[in-house]
Amino acid sequence: MSDCIFCKIINKEIPSKFIFESENIVAFHDIHPQAPTHILILPKKHIATINDMEKEDINLIGELFFTAKQIAKEKGISSYRLAINVGEEAGQSVFHIHLHLLAGKKF
Ligand code: 5GP
Ligand code: ZN
Repeated sequence: MSDCIFCKIINKEIPSKFIFESENIVAFHDIHPQAPTHILILPKKHIATINDMEKEDINLIGELFFTAKQIAKEKGISSYRLAINVGEEAGQSVFHIHLHLLAGKKF
């Protein structure tokens, strides 16, 4: 998707520092953190929202959560919030599926 900011980050058209990268997934710090730790974990595949997820994406979305767990463990974070906003009303502003990992404050 040529006009998707997260695809541009994934394709390194916009320089940014990944804290994790695998064949299917990348993770980086949110530009406007809502908590002391605020990491975005996303599939390299462009899927706009969870509503656009197909059956073939089940493993990929599972991998997002598995990656979140791994990143949290690496950082010594045992309690955290994972969130995916679906649609504008729910607060989605970037239409490329991403999992928010938030930690470091009491919610
Ligand atoms: P959403 O509101 O769609 O659930 O989450 C999008 C998130 O992406 C927001 O928390 C926003 O701060 C973050 N974000 C938007 N543009 C950029 C960017 O260019 N770089 C980074 N690192 N985060 C971004
Ligand atoms: Zn995209």
